[in-house]
Amino acid sequence: MQKSVAVIIDVQPFSDMPTEQTTYVFTELKKIYPSVELKTAIPLPEEAYYPARNRYRADSLLNFLSAQTKSNHVVIALTSKDISCTNETYADWGIIGYGFCPGNACVVSTFRLDKNNVFEQLFKASIHELGHTQGLDHCPDKTCFMRDAEGKNTTNEEKDFCPKCKAFLTSKGWLFKK
Ligand SMILES: [Zn+2]
Ligand SMILES: [Zn+2]
Repeated sequence: MQKSVAVIIDVQPFSDMPTEQTTYVFTELKKIYPSVELKTAIPLPEEAYYPARNRYRADSLLNFLSAQTKSNHVVIALTSKDISCTNETYADWGIIGYGFCPGNACVVSTFRLDKNNVFEQLFKASIHELGHTQGLDHCPDKTCFMRDAEGKNTTNEEKDFCPKCKAFLTSKGWLFKK
């Protein structure tokens, strides 16, 4: 597989996000990816707010983020607010994360994570969404970070990227220790 030029990952907290959680994602990401930048917090865009459920629409957040992301960058935005998307059954369905597949933007919310294990779950959810931005689809391996959570929080069962997903990300410049 041809090795492509690595893009820069921007870690973009929204202003509600606790600094120590953002820093954790940034620090852990730097261990497995060569170019990561930590951005200054920005306010959540008002146009993404869905007052009926007190949530932010993930598709609107991605469009907002995508529009301001520099070329050759991918942004992972972080928020503590609830986020939602439309699925086959529900017009407004609460989710943990959402990302273009492939594309230059993804977002993760801590709202639906286990408060006792929020750092680890936040990181796993973040690399899952970043995997989508790189072009990875969901993975049938139930221990892989790219498994389909199917509306639940399955991060505690996820151990690592499976060899197949790892090989794909390695071709995109990710640095895994073996
Ligand atoms: Zn996914
Ligand atoms: Zn996998």
